[in-house]
Amino acid sequence: MALIVQKFGGSSVADASKMLEVASRIAKTRKKGHQVVVVVSAPGDTTDDLIEMAHKITDSPNEREMDVLLATGEQQSIALLALAIQAAGCDSISFTGPQVGIVTDNVHTKARIVKVGDSTIRKALDNGKVVVVAGFQGMTRDNEITTLGRGGSDLTAVAIAAALKADVCEFYKDVDGVFTANPGMVKDAKKLSVISYDEMLEMASAGAQVLNARSVEFAKNFGIKIHVRPTFNEKEGTIVMQETKAMEKVVISGVTYNKNEAKITVRGVPDRPGIASILFSKLGKAGINVDMIIQNIGEKGHSDVSFTVDKSEFKKAMKVVGDAAKTLKPAGILSDEGIAKVSVVGVGMRSHSGVAANMFKALAEAGVNIEMISTSEIKISVVIDEKDVAKAVAAIHKKFNLGKKVAGVRG
Ligand code: ASP
Ligand code: MG
Repeated sequence: MALIVQKFGGSSVADASKMLEVASRIAKTRKKGHQVVVVVSAPGDTTDDLIEMAHKITDSPNEREMDVLLATGEQQSIALLALAIQAAGCDSISFTGPQVGIVTDNVHTKARIVKVGDSTIRKALDNGKVVVVAGFQGMTRDNEITTLGRGGSDLTAVAIAAALKADVCEFYKDVDGVFTANPGMVKDAKKLSVISYDEMLEMASAGAQVLNARSVEFAKNFGIKIHVRPTFNEKEGTIVMQETKAMEKVVISGVTYNKNEAKITVRGVPDRPGIASILFSKLGKAGINVDMIIQNIGEKGHSDVSFTVDKSEFKKAMKVVGDAAKTLKPAGILSDEGIAKVSVVGVGMRSHSGVAANMFKALAEAGVNIEMISTSEIKISVVIDEKDVAKAVAAIHKKFNLGKKVAGVRG
């Protein structure tokens, strides 16, 4: 008998019939004798709809109230799903995040989990119940409701799996697993049967929508095995786990893209120590995540600094930069929301050379201009014009032969 955490996303519980389907799937696992904890997101587009509604009321809604509002989405799912599981013949009970002791810091809309209680869940499991927990939400030590950032239900699932020392944390998705590229964009994209935590982490931060990056980090730190698998068929999906030697034999595991970033360029700032520090500490203090940064070679004592931020933080970032301009006195501030980041990821990069050269060659042959480049040990990212994304991804996928089967890794 295993302890399994199963996480279902919003599209898996978008309406009553989908909930009933999911419930029968959950009941099947339970009836095999396993203990099951289900973590669930808000139904369908509920979270987006709630955000949209708030923005109809005000341009910059108060973040505490946004958390109170958004937490209602998941609260609908848990109750309905518990009812559906009961209808499928299993005893079941739902809990909100606060009810099961998910304690967070007090950064509204992007809170971090600091503690997860396990006694409430354990007690219910010991009483034979399937426990359904609301993803994405928690409570501060002062009893304030918080949410964990978009896609945060993944994090809830992994945190609960860690707290309970679960055998596996299964993520049920409307895709068959993690692919070498978005299969909607690249026809011969292959499903990966295994991927390392680090690769998944880089893919997530590079824009792959499969798993939330923080949840993968959490899983890595606690050694939680993740299984990304499809909701509406019984196929095996992709296992996210500790790196193995075999994984290194493959140069590139996948190519991903992110259209959700915007570029800001601060032109003609003084080229002397401390300037970058002023700019980026102001952004940091405002809680804005900066992704790529480039600074060009100084000319006549001045240089240009470009960086990218998430589109959702673009307005806030522009405000901060405008404020910093009072001290930095730049020649100008430019912005571009029509960019995209394309990345290749693979632990094989550590032991294979020429990966960057190959990627740039693929882009050159496809006539795609590169605006920014950044690399990590196992990832190379470029910023390009948003309209070139599909072309770029397809060209890179082909260049690295990602459509080919590789035994035990993809196929
Ligand atoms: N419902 C939240 C969102 O849409 C959390 C989640 O789905 O994981 O971002
Ligand atoms: Mg959602």
